[in-house]
Amino acid sequence: MESYYKINSKLKWLLLLCGVFQITSCRDIQENKNYVLATTGMLYDITKNITPSSLEINYLMGEGVDPHLYKFSQTDLQKLNKSTLIICNGLHLEGKMNYILEKISRKKTVISVGDSLDEKKLIPINEKLHDPHIWFDLNLWIRVTEVVTNNLQLKYPDQKKIIENNSRKYIEELKKLQLYTKKRIEEIPLSQRVLITSHDAFRYFEKAYNFKVKALQGISTTTDYGLRDIQDLVDFITNQNIKAVFVETSISPKGIEAVVKGVESKGKQIKIIEGLYSDAMGTFGTPEGTYIGMYKANIDKIVDALK
Ligand SMILES: [Zn+2]
Repeated sequence: MESYYKINSKLKWLLLLCGVFQITSCRDIQENKNYVLATTGMLYDITKNITPSSLEINYLMGEGVDPHLYKFSQTDLQKLNKSTLIICNGLHLEGKMNYILEKISRKKTVISVGDSLDEKKLIPINEKLHDPHIWFDLNLWIRVTEVVTNNLQLKYPDQKKIIENNSRKYIEELKKLQLYTKKRIEEIPLSQRVLITSHDAFRYFEKAYNFKVKALQGISTTTDYGLRDIQDLVDFITNQNIKAVFVETSISPKGIEAVVKGVESKGKQIKIIEGLYSDAMGTFGTPEGTYIGMYKANIDKIVDALK
């Protein structure tokens, strides 16, 4: 599994050199002590909700962006140089940005929320790595909100009270979402709680809500799938009488479409549900462009298709 994150060593050095060059060329970008940067949309949402309006919050990965494959651009470097606090998911989610985040952490505060969590609460992939899709466990995400809160308070002690109040309100909303989710999931009989997606992003969801999760690709989208994987999934679906499969917004639908064709060739029908949010939220400014709206949209899609 570790090989997911391995970059050819020559290429790595080349990229590193390019990174050094680009950072040097961005020296004119001044650090702004009120500028906070989050890597993913989900972390941006927490940060945006709990910080006072005097701070400027930005993000790297927007709508439909796959964080496993994401490579930083010149604009990203400008954002990184401008920031005083960088909040990332960690646990190798931002796989292709690891080296730049490591490098920049020597000069700036970089908070890896995944690495701040209790290891016992994380899902292991192997002896060394853990599943990075922690935002699908609402208890873990509440803990992540607390980690972001504590770090913002350390960085901006004069704003401590406002951050505390905003954080409390945000966590109350997350707890309401938790109740909504539990209630809606109960509409699906246990035997129908099977979530089939393109890539394996829903293990925390599986654990929290007594689901069985099946995916074509592994935990990271840097792994590929083959005909054997498609055939196995087709066999599983036809044997279990699964009602629907799901396509994620940040992943190509090709693999799941091949599975659906395979199921239909066996004389069975299956619904294909598009627009499941896995590693990226929806458009900013719409309900699905917020963490809570995205999570709720997923729950409604899953329950309505499988109940
Ligand atoms: Zn993923």
